Amino acid sequence: MSQKDYYTVLGVPEDASQEAIKKAFRGLAKRYHPDRNRGDAEAERRFKEIQEAYDVLGDPAKRKKYDELRRFGSGGFQGVDLEDLFGGGSPFGGFGGSIFDLFERAGAGRRGAARHRPRGEDLRAEITVPFATAASGGEVSLSLPRTETCTACRGSGAAAGSRVETCPECGGSGTAMRSQGAFSFSRPCPRCLGRGRIIREPCRACRGSGTRTVTRRFAVRIPPGIADGGRIRLKGEGEPGGPGAPPGDLIVTVRVAGHDRFRRRGLDIESDLTLDIASAALGTKAEVETLGGKVELTVPPGVQPGQRLRLRGRGIRDHRGRRGDHYVRIRVRIPKKLTRRQRELLEEFARAR
Ligand SMILES: [Zn+2]
Ligand SMILES: [Zn+2]
Repeated sequence: MSQKDYYTVLGVPEDASQEAIKKAFRGLAKRYHPDRNRGDAEAERRFKEIQEAYDVLGDPAKRKKYDELRRFGSGGFQGVDLEDLFGGGSPFGGFGGSIFDLFERAGAGRRGAARHRPRGEDLRAEITVPFATAASGGEVSLSLPRTETCTACRGSGAAAGSRVETCPECGGSGTAMRSQGAFSFSRPCPRCLGRGRIIREPCRACRGSGTRTVTRRFAVRIPPGIADGGRIRLKGEGEPGGPGAPPGDLIVTVRVAGHDRFRRRGLDIESDLTLDIASAALGTKAEVETLGGKVELTVPPGVQPGQRLRLRGRGIRDHRGRRGDHYVRIRVRIPKKLTRRQRELLEEFARAR
């Protein structure tokens, strides 16, 4: 069993496509095939190595696990005995199941260690949505810079093909103990800055940090009836977590924009209706704009300024199916100027009292 890096074996970069891996494998397999190299032990060894590498890298699921192990395995592969890891079995017999059980086990060990590692930070953002969108629901888009794992080095911080070594100072733990009198403190290892690894040749894309800031566009689904200050959580869309830890969430606080005619109180909508004095006194029918379109409102005779008339069920319907009402607040316009005829009639009206 080889201890070589599978990418190196196939001579492909870490971000090679599945197609490129297949192509590289075919070329090498042809070159080192035992039929072509009879009695050549070195060619036979290479051929097995190539097959072993392709068994893993040629399968996207296995490759993913391999990448994870490669990235976080203590000090790359230097500290891990692959012979142990793969169970020492021949990769050509019973290879399928066992290797990945072991990958799982190696992963579980890391997860155990990472149990106390905090998940990624939550990202917070605020968006203002139009009144109608908040009432009826919809989707708004939001652009936000976010820290992401560097795709070039898959978070390792190391340039492709370069070695990542376990920090000799802390043995890979990332922490150093310091004694002061009767107490001892643990602090981040000064040599590796708490990473536990020493990168010889940093990844150029991220300058060795393993992360990059990427502006992402998020589609935020606004549930109907969301209130001003309501929060929406996009699970897993926050900052990445440490090795083995889940990412944080993106928490979006929704601000509801004002409307030129509608006011909102919970699920109820309120708007104004201005009547002249005669309509207020005599009653009338009026067309009222609601969220769902125009509705005819019957104004009873003698309606008072400030009185609210209800249009039942014409308010906001939320995602649970609850429905608010639409209230029409009455205003009465007192004429500032009267025609001669109007004056006469009003004077007559006054006398009739
Ligand atoms: Zn990188
Ligand atoms: Zn260290």
